[in-house]
Amino acid sequence: LCSRRDEVSLAEEAPTIFSKVIDKSLPADIIYEDEKCLAFRDITPQAPVHFLVIPKVQIPRLSAARDGDAELLGHLLLVAKNEAKKEGLSEGYRVVINDGPHGAQSVYHLHIHSPGGTADDLAPG
Ligand code: C5P
Repeated sequence: LCSRRDEVSLAEEAPTIFSKVIDKSLPADIIYEDEKCLAFRDITPQAPVHFLVIPKVQIPRLSAARDGDAELLGHLLLVAKNEAKKEGLSEGYRVVINDGPHGAQSVYHLHIHSPGGTADDLAPG
């Protein structure tokens, strides 16, 4: 018998829909890719421009990141700012990571939201 805690941690380690984006078995509007990460447009944009940056390795959530992930996490942030520039977000944007149930995380594959476009409409998903 699994405790609720075990069920939660098993669910967090399972592949998510973003594994299918990475292996291209699910179509996504990919705007950037390299050996470590992928950026693609959010399927339900919460702002005029709204893309996600994800690592190719499945870190389920920010709180599961380890010290050894420091370089990768920094890389994700730099990709987010490079893509924001390419998208023309010269007046700024938000960079949001939802973590866990109380952080409104729905997909347990770490992702950075970068919504931007107008000052009125910047609530991340
Ligand atoms: O941070 P959170 O886990 O809530 O956000 C997941 C995001 O992934 C949502 O904004 C959702 O629209 C997006 N998504 C997507 N493509 C999918 C599934 C989810 O862009 N196939």
